[in-house]
Amino acid sequence: MNSYLQGVPILQDSFGRVINNLRISVTDRCNFRCRYCMPEEGMNWLDKNELLTYEEMARVTRIFARLGVTKVRLTGGEPLMRRDLHVLVGFISRIEGIRDLSLTTNGFFLSEQAELLSQAGLRRINVSLDSLDPVKFNLMTRRNYYHRVWEGIETAEKVGLTPIKLNAVLMRGINDNEIPKFASLVREKEYIVRFIEFMPIGQDDGWTIDRVVPTGEVIERIEASMGKKLVAVEYHGVQPADRYRFEDGRGEIGFISSVSDPFCNHCNRVRVTSDGKLRTCLFSLEETDLRTFLRGEASNREIEDAIVKAVLKKEKGHLINQPGFVRPNRTMSQIGG
Ligand code: SAM
Ligand code: SF4
Repeated sequence: MNSYLQGVPILQDSFGRVINNLRISVTDRCNFRCRYCMPEEGMNWLDKNELLTYEEMARVTRIFARLGVTKVRLTGGEPLMRRDLHVLVGFISRIEGIRDLSLTTNGFFLSEQAELLSQAGLRRINVSLDSLDPVKFNLMTRRNYYHRVWEGIETAEKVGLTPIKLNAVLMRGINDNEIPKFASLVREKEYIVRFIEFMPIGQDDGWTIDRVVPTGEVIERIEASMGKKLVAVEYHGVQPADRYRFEDGRGEIGFISSVSDPFCNHCNRVRVTSDGKLRTCLFSLEETDLRTFLRGEASNREIEDAIVKAVLKKEKGHLINQPGFVRPNRTMSQIGG
């Protein structure tokens, strides 16, 4: 049953958090093998017929929009592995109530798809870029695609998919020596860099707490190398990243402190996996199978009710690095990061 606040639909959990943000994973497959996400070999992929069709994804999104969701992010796996993703973007961008449609990508296919995506109604993108050095990039992603990703970023910029956010997962001892380089980049160019703390959610990711570079340390290292202070402009706001700018106003850096300072109390999102499972937390141990509803005779009203019920059980937060933490049985790439 839908709830309203002053005539506007809202989807709310039992802790009073309003859910207005939906992440849809369009595939579990990927052409990269980032070491914090998946191993070189040994991933089991879903069959094509297990993936939701674009029509099914659009129907789910329409239902979420009726419940008050206004923001949608497409992700994966690598979403641009679906070479006609602009078709889905076209469907979703026309849904009443969806005001913000974005994409998270590794950037590899951007040079060929950015224009079509933009024409179809995509507004902005996040590109994962863990290194500014081709050799180190190769070490992080196990792919020699650094230059191609930059071509993609530049194409996206030209067609106006801005502001471009560059997401870097830091792994101590591998790419954390590049913190100053990323900090310099945001002062020279219009990109927003966001440092993401390494989480235990990959397959064979080798996660230990020592490998995580906590935000507090990253800030100290940036300030020491740049000789300038960072000032918080948004802390635990509507996005998972806490936003900082240099004291002179030039250059923005975001921090997603999922391990050292989680934003769970402010979480406003749910996820639908590429095989149609609704997850109310990245670390959920339970899912709601929307695909069975979609492929059965269920009415939109029944699906709406199932979503409302699932959201009421949204977890208070995750327990990373605490006793009792249990890894979910899906990886980030199988959930949709
Ligand atoms: N393939 C696309 C990409 O890499 O941007 C989209 C999917 S990827 C799973 C989404 C985001 O999850 C990326 O920014 C990636 O860096 C992040 N990610 C994956 N595994 C992670 C982990 N173990 N810890 C923190 N972030 C992770
Ligand atoms: Fe692929 Fe993204 Fe995972 Fe890297 S982080 S392996 S690009 S899904």
